[in-house]
Amino acid sequence: MSQELLHVKDLHISFKAKGKDVRAVTGVDFTVDKGQTMGIVGESGAGKSVLGLSILRLLPDATAYIPQGSIEFKGNDLLKLSKKDMQKVRGDQISMIFQDPMTSLNPVMSVGDQIIEALRYHNKDKLNKAQLEQRVDEVMELVGIPAYRKKEYPHQFSGGMRQRVVIAIALVCNPELLIADEPTTALDVTIQAQVLAIIRDLQKKLGTAMVLITHDLGIVAQMCDKVGVMYAGEMVEHGSIEDIFSGDFHHPYTMGLFGSIPNLETESKRLSPIPGLMPPPNNLPEGCRFHPRCKHCMEICKTVAPEKYYDKEGHYVACHLFRDKGKEENHD
Ligand code: SF4
Repeated sequence: MSQELLHVKDLHISFKAKGKDVRAVTGVDFTVDKGQTMGIVGESGAGKSVLGLSILRLLPDATAYIPQGSIEFKGNDLLKLSKKDMQKVRGDQISMIFQDPMTSLNPVMSVGDQIIEALRYHNKDKLNKAQLEQRVDEVMELVGIPAYRKKEYPHQFSGGMRQRVVIAIALVCNPELLIADEPTTALDVTIQAQVLAIIRDLQKKLGTAMVLITHDLGIVAQMCDKVGVMYAGEMVEHGSIEDIFSGDFHHPYTMGLFGSIPNLETESKRLSPIPGLMPPPNNLPEGCRFHPRCKHCMEICKTVAPEKYYDKEGHYVACHLFRDKGKEENHD
């Protein structure tokens, strides 16, 4: 039986800019079960980070709004919670790891105090000072930092160690869901592998589900159970890791992404980059948003936006090429 934790349904996110509506995310659907990892992949500007921030309702109220859709967490629509109730969810039931550990941490507070601050805010168990300190020591050991370093400040840590502190803060309240937005992009490649291994081990140990936002297909293959491919604010393909990484993908953009990374198993010495650039959200083309770059573009693609077509449960493709092979389905 599936244990659905998060259900993002037909989510649309817009920004107001100079009196105009700019559509950053359009009609995104996906679910995450308990303990599962969902990868969101795509180029910069595809709407991945906006999507991640929207789950925690961290988008700026003054400019961002959600005209349509829902974000259900354990059956409750987060978009309908009061600000106060949302604060109880943030950091406690859902946590976030941001890209750059230096800007996520407070430079004038010791790392121990920063971990304890998160814990104190959601101190449901009414732990006393000694118990709080003990919990900080435990979580620091969990992420591989000796507890005696808790009195030190962020500038005394390397980039990789700082990101471990960020992970400790994110996990100290045992959240059920972690949103990780490019958690290793700011780190050296060797340190990236260590940090990813820590996240994966802790996830297994604690049973935490994760939405992992990245532009790196290698990280998706290593960490995720399923993946959504984003292009110009839309999730154009969604499927299991087994399907997508065994080559059972259908959208021309997904094909382009895989064609533009090196593959040791093929003889081709040349990569095939996707021609052109992704359109900015304030200047999206009519019809299929990928059509100006798509080598399979047909007349219909220039005027009609494709529906989502399902070829099997959990695998959909938003492309007219697939309309006769898959069947349209309501995700609800
Ligand atoms: Fe290409 Fe048309 Fe499919 Fe868009 S709908 S990806 S333009 S074939």
